[in-house]
Amino acid sequence: MDKHSKMDPIVKQGVFENGLMGLHVPEEYGGSGSSFFDAMIVIEELAKTDPAVSAMVGIHNTLPVSMILDHGTEEQKLRYLPALCSDTFGSFCISEAGAGSDAFALKTLAKQDGDYFLLSGSKMWITNSGDAQVFVVFANVDPSQRYKGITCFIVERGADGLTVDKEEDKLGIRASSTCQVHFDNVRVHKSAILGEYGKGYKYAIECLNAGRIAIGAQMIGLAQGCFDQTIPYLQQREQFGQRLIDFQVEQTLD
Ligand SMILES: Cc1cc2nc3c(=O)[nH]c(=O)nc-3n(C[C@H](O)[C@H](O)[C@H](O)COP(=O)(O)OP(=O)(O)OC[C@H]3O[C@@H](n4cnc5c(N)ncnc54)[C@H](O)[C@@H]3O)c2cc1C
Repeated sequence: MDKHSKMDPIVKQGVFENGLMGLHVPEEYGGSGSSFFDAMIVIEELAKTDPAVSAMVGIHNTLPVSMILDHGTEEQKLRYLPALCSDTFGSFCISEAGAGSDAFALKTLAKQDGDYFLLSGSKMWITNSGDAQVFVVFANVDPSQRYKGITCFIVERGADGLTVDKEEDKLGIRASSTCQVHFDNVRVHKSAILGEYGKGYKYAIECLNAGRIAIGAQMIGLAQGCFDQTIPYLQQREQFGQRLIDFQVEQTLD
């Protein structure tokens, strides 16, 4: 899967069928009803075997799903969460070419037009965007307010003017989908605002704080997975007449 930058469709189906895509979502919204802590254990365990699957599951749960769970209206939760838990990928779109660590430097605009907003801009490195049907998008409704103009919108895949570019050619977790997402005057109704107008920066900080815990869980799982694969090799591989594990420098691992 990693070599070809492709996630096996059976794995994508499997993560939904096994209840891994709405881990901390209450059962009333179609989730598994676990805690956030439980979700981190799942992410860590998946990363022991395949960090790309862990990234796909971890980011879906902690970013787009959490945003809708924490800030959605009851109508938005009922519209999106059951689907996101059962068969629909979501993406979280904040980063841009000039807005990485400094995410609030984002240039995507949401220009108000009566009851609608027109979204224009390009997002980069968006996880699961190759498959996503639901996009949680950060755009500025009033750049004169700087970060206090940042507002969050829910945009659906079929919206006119929304395009998803080719997969990024990454060095690792290659089977996890990472693409650019472009918005060319994408028209969304004001009811698609997630949470309050101008509060997007606050929601992003909170959500990314939780997302970073998931990245930490993923890294611990990845390191443990490497360790677990290395020990049996050191125990069976012989050089200079003895097992590698019996050399002084490797003995600390046994
Ligand atoms: C695999 C992958 C998946 C991703 N998924 C998503 C996603 O789903 N949604 C999304 O919106 N974004 C996503 N991103 C984007 C990710 O959030 C950004 O890559 C990240 O914010 C860093 O931005 P950057 O790559 O532009 O690095 P930069 O911000 O350019 O940073 C480059 C280097 O400078 C350092 N640096 C930056 N600022 C400071 C500072 N103040 N002090 C000291 N050092 C500093 C950084 O630590 C880093 O080492 C993803 C990225 C990757 C690689």
